[in-house]
Amino acid sequence: MIKVLKFGGTSVGSAANMRKVADIIRAEGATVTVLSAMSGTTDALVKISCSVKNGKPEEVTPVLDMLEKKYTDCMTKLLTDPSDCMEQMGAVFDLIRYQVHQYVPGVSDRVIQAQGELLTSAIFNRYLTEQGERSVLLHAPGFMRTQPDGKVDMDHLNRELAAQTHASNTYYVTQGFICTNHKGELDNLGRGGSDYSAALMGVAVLADEVQIWTDIDGMHNNDPRYVEKTYPIRHMTFDDAAELAYFGAKILHPSTIQPCKEHGIPVRLKNTMDPTAPGTLITNEGEQAQFCAVAAKDNITVIRIHSLRMLMAYGFLRKVFEVFEHHKTSIDMITTSEVSVSLTIDNDEHLDAIVRELQALGTIEIERNNSIICIVGDMDHHKAGLVWRITGSLNTIPVKMISYGANDRSLVMLIETGNKIKALQDINHELFNL
Ligand code: ADP
Ligand code: ASP
Ligand code: MG
Repeated sequence: MIKVLKFGGTSVGSAANMRKVADIIRAEGATVTVLSAMSGTTDALVKISCSVKNGKPEEVTPVLDMLEKKYTDCMTKLLTDPSDCMEQMGAVFDLIRYQVHQYVPGVSDRVIQAQGELLTSAIFNRYLTEQGERSVLLHAPGFMRTQPDGKVDMDHLNRELAAQTHASNTYYVTQGFICTNHKGELDNLGRGGSDYSAALMGVAVLADEVQIWTDIDGMHNNDPRYVEKTYPIRHMTFDDAAELAYFGAKILHPSTIQPCKEHGIPVRLKNTMDPTAPGTLITNEGEQAQFCAVAAKDNITVIRIHSLRMLMAYGFLRKVFEVFEHHKTSIDMITTSEVSVSLTIDNDEHLDAIVRELQALGTIEIERNNSIICIVGDMDHHKAGLVWRITGSLNTIPVKMISYGANDRSLVMLIETGNKIKALQDINHELFNL
């Protein structure tokens, strides 16, 4: 069986946890092991970039000291002979200092952010070798390359990874998250992108399974960061998992599911801290509960367009959508009446320009700081009382928009972010009886 196993930040966050990872890849017979940076690293590296951008380079040294302590501690506890890895860490920190001095916006940020995954994978590979395992460290930017449109070049990945992983009885260790962009620069797939790296590598090596190992026993019915009583879902469909990941279930990067679904590769979510827990299996089939899970996504901006020109007119929505297409901004929710349209976006980078263009079509209102609540389950439109039951569970919270009927698996609502935690808790109580 060919398996790609990905381990997140907590899973590689200490020497003790790296030992657990080694035990897991042996027990599972991993072909490719994809690693994140140790937890907290990427945040720290992003902070370094921000300090430089804000003209406060003096803030960099304490962050580097913290990272040095963290990685040194891990190496000395894990490795019999940490000297090679220590040397590599020294070179990494020199490179970061160099980027801070010769700062080129964008390019330097990406080089700095890539260093965490490079360090963890080198340490872990060294550990496997010391343990007497046949282990090969692969440099992900050599096979993970993005095109000018930001998409990963799958032909290149398929060819390169297949060529580099042909030996049997070998553990291939590599980095998640990082890649080379079309200019040949070090880049990344976005925050939390290691899950996506693993999915694409799974496709490239024709994996029988992609496993995402993290700090919780699978996809829960609700967000465990905000709600106390939640439970893992044992089996769910690709579509449900993709919807929940897109609408805020942090356990999975939103792009992870699509490539696996397309190639029929099961995805299993597992807990590094409790490897015997069954976790969640994601395939074309899933459990048939009335309500499967709920997730929430923050930083949603509503754009309300009011125009009497919409009355009895056709082609109006096309003009609205073209504005968003032009600014490469995707729309999450949409509701319409005869003379108005409300839309939500989660990326407001081009909001000012979008508003300027939309003003030619009508009066525009903007509302920020909203959250989308997405409930996934059996939303059979023929069933009476379903919408009443769901909205009833939020009867003390103002609901600003509802999207229902686009598919038979989800209902999406928009509320103010300040009400999010209460909404998730009320839904847990009312719909999941917890
Ligand atoms: P990793 O560093 O391993 O990639 P993440 O922090 O990205 O881990 O994802 C795991 C975390 O996702 C969990 O610790 C949990 O707090 C959070 N999470 C949010 N929603 C869910 C959910 N529905 N089910 C499980 N975990 C969730
Ligand atoms: N280390 C990266 C991040 O923290 C990628 C990942 O962990 O998936 O975003
Ligand atoms: Mg993650």
